[in-house]
Amino acid sequence: MLYSMPQSEHGSSHPLPYGPIYDVPKPLKNTDDVLHVMPESVIEIRDLGVGRFGMVSLAATVGLSFKDIRLGENDDKHRSLLVAIKKLSPDGGKNLRDSFEKEIKYMARLHHPNVVHLLGVCMVGTPFIMMEYMENGDLNEFLQKQNLVDDGVSLLQENEISPLVLLYMTVQIASGMRYLASQRVVHRDIATRNCLVGHDFVVKISDFGMSRKLYESFYYRVHGKLILPIRWMAYESFYGKFSVKSDVWAFGITMWEIHTLARYEPYHELIDEELIADAMKGDRRQRPARPAIVPDAIYDVMLRCWVHDPFMRGDFEEVYSRLFLAYTRMCQQCS
Ligand code: ADP
Repeated sequence: MLYSMPQSEHGSSHPLPYGPIYDVPKPLKNTDDVLHVMPESVIEIRDLGVGRFGMVSLAATVGLSFKDIRLGENDDKHRSLLVAIKKLSPDGGKNLRDSFEKEIKYMARLHHPNVVHLLGVCMVGTPFIMMEYMENGDLNEFLQKQNLVDDGVSLLQENEISPLVLLYMTVQIASGMRYLASQRVVHRDIATRNCLVGHDFVVKISDFGMSRKLYESFYYRVHGKLILPIRWMAYESFYGKFSVKSDVWAFGITMWEIHTLARYEPYHELIDEELIADAMKGDRRQRPARPAIVPDAIYDVMLRCWVHDPFMRGDFEEVYSRLFLAYTRMCQQCS
């Protein structure tokens, strides 16, 4: 527990359906299973942003084939591929290096179309993680640039998005989260800011750690440090309980962000202290209101994510199936 809170109604040993983050299964023991590249295997092109390890840059690979980076079994022709590299800042010290290596070991285990893919690592010179490049950046920023057009499947112009596409993006995140849950990985910070957008509205989950300079205002501070994404947190997470079920709650908030085009932060009408006081009401706390474009069937899914008791709350199997069904129906209506 990070700051003084009233005692949980369940007591501190309240068991959750799944263990806390990264408890099971164990991470890779070392990084041997990951492709190791040399610093000269990439040429940096430009900066993409700042992450908690340091700069994230766009780069092109040099002297690597699809076979090397495990994108094609028989394709050993050298190609220049655009990748994102996450560099470890030399000023970070041992703790940062440890979390950097931890991120590599967890990311290396995850293989799913809606989870950002680790392509390789460089552990000499300035260490970096090499990941697939998602050209439209993070989902929060992406959504804020979009204008909603109420048109099903017709050709969208640049910076236009439709309810069908918003649901398509939501389903993809649900699919990635369902996979993470099946791997018993708890994300702890699922939010639009932690998803990346590629071409054709492909969305992938990223950021298996916490906090990001760009989005400082989304985290509650304790002693000046950014700690908790309180606006995305289930009641039990205020008592330090993070599980697949608290991820489900945060996913519901992520759905709400998507369907408001990230124009507001969740509970924007409340300041942090009011939000915490409200969250302490447990089952009686406020739930975000239904965004104007969301039909009842989809708002029902959000409400299933915001069931107070984590045992009664929906899980990602249910959430994914219901969203997928809603998406299929919407596709039929649009065609
Ligand atoms: P960290 O997890 O280390 O805090 P982030 O994932 O938050 O770092 O990355 C920081 C910035 O870099 C973000 O603003 C994001 O837009 C950009 N970024 C990160 N990974 C990629 C990627 N694979 N493709 C494109 N942009 C990326």
